Amino acid sequence: MSGAKQVGCSFCRTEKLSKDEIALNKKLIHRQIERMMCLTCMAAYFETTEENLKEKIEWFKEEGCALFG
Ligand SMILES: [Zn+2]
Repeated sequence: MSGAKQVGCSFCRTEKLSKDEIALNKKLIHRQIERMMCLTCMAAYFETTEENLKEKIEWFKEEGCALFG
């Protein structure tokens, strides 16, 4: 995908979020979210585990969510 902005975590300064992490931010928080979180920070935010979030990503993909390509 050309022209895509490099997005980093706003909290721990992890520099490069994956497409899946970005999609999960949009899905779980807000489509227009400007401050993205990495999986580690999202797990803390939602009081869950990274594993659980990864499962959610897989689940959303299977569901055919357009945010996850
Ligand atoms: Zn982070």
